[in-house]
Amino acid sequence: ATPTAVMVATGVGANNGVLIKGGDALERAQKVNYVVFDKTGTLTQGKATVTTAKVFTGMDRGDFLTLVASAEASSYFSTSLKIVASSEHPLARAIVEYARHFHFFNEPSAAKDAQNLSKESKFSGWLLDVSEFSALPGRGVQCFIHGKMVLVGNRKLLTESGVTIPTEVESFLVELEESAKTGILVTYNDILIGVLGVADPLKREAAVVVEGLKKMGVRPVMVTGDNWRTAQAVAKEVGIEDVRAEVMPAGKADVIRSFQKDGSVVAMVGDGINDSPALAVADIGMAIGAGTDIAIEAADYVLMRNSLEDVITAIDLSRKTFFRIR
Ligand code: ADP
Ligand code: MG
Repeated sequence: ATPTAVMVATGVGANNGVLIKGGDALERAQKVNYVVFDKTGTLTQGKATVTTAKVFTGMDRGDFLTLVASAEASSYFSTSLKIVASSEHPLARAIVEYARHFHFFNEPSAAKDAQNLSKESKFSGWLLDVSEFSALPGRGVQCFIHGKMVLVGNRKLLTESGVTIPTEVESFLVELEESAKTGILVTYNDILIGVLGVADPLKREAAVVVEGLKKMGVRPVMVTGDNWRTAQAVAKEVGIEDVRAEVMPAGKADVIRSFQKDGSVVAMVGDGINDSPALAVADIGMAIGAGTDIAIEAADYVLMRNSLEDVITAIDLSRKTFFRIR
């Protein structure tokens, strides 16, 4: 294609909310063989909602929720301090919102503070002081509250810290996962105190886009840090057969490389910090516009409308621009 054609296509893309960083990226998209989708926030709406909160100890329900929310909120609200890792994670948001609503209905006095919560606010009201916070991508968050370690995350997070999961809790987890929910484990002082179940519905267009890609001769793949059971339940709903689950951020890039080995051209679509290594390694990295800045920086394309339909728009645009001059 002539430089003019590339310029025109880039403009057409921009008008449709598809930002393309350069002509090379535009050209590569026509040859794509695989589109690898991240699950959370990419195939799903990223509007996770807590559906279940089960306390496994004698702890008061309100106290339990305050503890979990405090751990997650320090990441969620600290973007100005650049502790972004888990902060913009849909799960963190869901948990804070759920706890906030619980307090709103149960303790009207606390509700005032809860309502005034904004990104920059000091959470004097109901959230607890947190120290030594760290977000562990693909696993959860870790911090200290009242001098005791708090973990909020998946099995891997607990296993790495040497916390065992009681069988009663494990079977509850499995139940959640089989219904496409993500189970989040919470420990305090190395004791498992409760589990949250989180549902994150698919984006409305997800299944149609997956089907569309197949018709175009492109193979859809799902890669996620979430557990196998949840991943498979979601993949089944969306129509993706090729699933890679329990993958750490660096592992996502390895998945891309494994597809590239035979010369295949691979696109990666993602929204999170945990997707950025894969977005960078992919032949075509596509970031969801609502995603994290780091993902957007690592990508060749930014889908500003946050619609997966634009994955197809992007491939179409490339095909139309480059087929003509063959
Ligand atoms: P995905 O690859 O689907 O976008 P992530 O890699 O972001 O998922 O997360 C993988 C898993 O790590 C989640 O399913 C969850 O179990 C755990 N996790 C990540 N971040 C958090 C968090 N802020 N709070 C609790 N759990 C988390
Ligand atoms: Mg994601």
